[in-house]
Amino acid sequence: MNTTELETLIRSILTEQLQSHDDQPALACGCTSDGVALFDTVDAAVKAAHAAFKRFQEAPLKTRSSIVAAIRAGLADCLPELSEAAALETGMGNAADKILKNRAALENTPGIEDLVTTALTGDEGMVLFEYSPYGVIGSVAPSTNPTETIINNSISMLAAGNAIYFSPHPGAKQVSLNLIARMEAIVFKACGIHNLIVTVREPSFEATQQMMAHPNIALLAITGGPGIVSMALKSGKKTIGAGAGNPPCLVDETAEIVKAARDIIAGASLDYNLPCIAEKSVIVVECVADQLIQQMREYGALQITDPQQMAALREVCIQKGAANKQLVGKSPAVILEAAGLPVPAKVPKLIILETAADDPLVVTEQLMPVLPIVRVDNFEQGLALALKVEDGLHHTAIMHSQNVSRLNKAAHLMQTSIFVKNGPSFAGIGVGAEGFTTFTIATPTGEGTTSARTFGRLRRCVLTNGFSIR
Ligand code: NAD
Repeated sequence: MNTTELETLIRSILTEQLQSHDDQPALACGCTSDGVALFDTVDAAVKAAHAAFKRFQEAPLKTRSSIVAAIRAGLADCLPELSEAAALETGMGNAADKILKNRAALENTPGIEDLVTTALTGDEGMVLFEYSPYGVIGSVAPSTNPTETIINNSISMLAAGNAIYFSPHPGAKQVSLNLIARMEAIVFKACGIHNLIVTVREPSFEATQQMMAHPNIALLAITGGPGIVSMALKSGKKTIGAGAGNPPCLVDETAEIVKAARDIIAGASLDYNLPCIAEKSVIVVECVADQLIQQMREYGALQITDPQQMAALREVCIQKGAANKQLVGKSPAVILEAAGLPVPAKVPKLIILETAADDPLVVTEQLMPVLPIVRVDNFEQGLALALKVEDGLHHTAIMHSQNVSRLNKAAHLMQTSIFVKNGPSFAGIGVGAEGFTTFTIATPTGEGTTSARTFGRLRRCVLTNGFSIR
């Protein structure tokens, strides 16, 4: 039995076990009853969330803080279980890395402190600018970060005073429903209001479409591929769109090559390259390319050099100009096997190969631990290629260099929502670096790394005559 067959067998046994638990998703934590959290229809769910929002509007800010604290405490112990369930159900990524991602979402998503009030005062009086809630937010979550997105968005959106209808990915249904029911129960316990987080028992594309058209949905937050983001943008509702990326990683001759290699391996192999922010290609200046590749091999990459093997790999990874969905988020071993290539005894963290600049592996967002490397003559050529590869998605780019003016030039011209200098891509979402964590990076609509304030409506409150003590 080969690795793929073994993985399929284990997955089917475990999925059966998981489903037998998940027939009653919320009962595992003793937390749902009829008309709470999980509904039969989109309409019933959205209306329940809308009623919950009306009550939530009357609660003080400290209630929101208590909710955020309760979520952090209440989910802390179940991250390994959630991560395993997500990896198992979706068949993508790995539990160990998902624990890290879920922990970042749980611990490092800001709460109400993110809603910074600003004021103007003068002889004529005072003006306050404050973030107030929108109402019920329709939040679509991807299969690549199903639980991370639900945790992250719940904290941000509830901190901003909203209720949430989640459209989980049908491919991550069981784990998402379980998490939503569990979080609803935690939130209810913290504030006494039911249905601040809801969804339907059978998430489907149709349900997502109904949600987008529902009059009680005030705002859409869409985290997913280009299809679903453009569908939401056509809905007529205000949309925060967090779409696809294809992050290039540029390495110039001044970079600390050993560190660059280590960071690239860490970033590009995380959760088998599922994160939208992960390095999807390396563009390296010729004179340091050999050294970088050598170091990447030392840090656990397997380099494919045989032209036939490279072609076989390309053929299985990219089909009809798009990533082969069967291999998205699979391990290097499964991908090597699918391409008919030998799997080394010590399974590599990442598969690397040198390619041309226009190789399908470079220009397609593949979400697999297969990293193409392109040589360029110099920094200028590398930057031009990085711009082409990122393709105006405004998502993420990474650069390794010790030349400050080049770093600044690239950061300025790339116009990505996240630009990481001399670190792994995940530094851009606050893992091992400064900054808060988010799994909803609003790219086409421009909000960038989202947090509570992104989900607040900015309003002005004016008081005339006085209240200036200057
Ligand atoms: P996907 O687009 O297949 O699915 C996302 C969600 O949209 C799912 O809930 C799915 O059910 C729904 N959906 C998709 N097509 C639909 C349709 N026609 N009608 C109704 N609902 C529909 O994405 P995925 O494969 O789960 O996630 C991967 C993609 O998401 C990648 O492109 C990745 O870059 C992107 N992503 C972006 C961010 C970000 O913050 N910018 C974060 C994570 C993932």
